[in-house]
Amino acid sequence: MFKVIRSEAAPASLARKQNYSEKDVFDALSRVFYNKCYICETKEPVDINVEHFDPHFGDVDKKFSWENLYLSCGRCNNIKLAKYNELLDCCDPNVDVLRSIKHVPPITPYAKYLRIEPQFDDKKTRLTAELIEKVFNSEHTPNKTVSASFLRRKVFQQFNLFLDLQSAYFDELALPAEKDIALERMKLLIKASSQYCAFISWCVLEDEELAPLLDEFVGI
Ligand SMILES: [Zn+2]
Repeated sequence: MFKVIRSEAAPASLARKQNYSEKDVFDALSRVFYNKCYICETKEPVDINVEHFDPHFGDVDKKFSWENLYLSCGRCNNIKLAKYNELLDCCDPNVDVLRSIKHVPPITPYAKYLRIEPQFDDKKTRLTAELIEKVFNSEHTPNKTVSASFLRRKVFQQFNLFLDLQSAYFDELALPAEKDIALERMKLLIKASSQYCAFISWCVLEDEELAPLLDEFVGI
């Protein structure tokens, strides 16, 4: 999960309280969430939903509240449903969602399982980690098993980009300018706008040489 800064005012159509997913809402959410599902971090998913972070259960104010609308893919929305209604809020500036849940990338493209580990023992952190763990590993239906495997492969592709940069940086023949370029490219992978940045950010945070160099750029 990555930090989201809700930098835009409520789209005009919400004031009419008729439809919470008109084009202006969808466009604003796409910009604010960097076109990524806030749960699985897939960029430009095929099936995108405007989701209520706090389920509205018919409450009109909650239904049309700009602060309560999030961008998620259909798959994550389906796994979350109303069951996970006490999650860490990626839009809350006081919550560091990225550092609250460790995301461990797969070491092979066909890895059977991805580890997602809560870093704190409070209910919201545990539930959020549980939901993300389910998203990447769900075997509840044949369809979800296949799509989870596909998702893990996509994370691996991103991890592979990081591995290439890591090799370039740590190459014993690397010139200072080449190291700088590798570092600049790593900064791109750990930006909140990059796909699966939580996984790559954790690789950086756990590396004793890279962490001091890149820590301040993680997830921003
Ligand atoms: Zn998703």
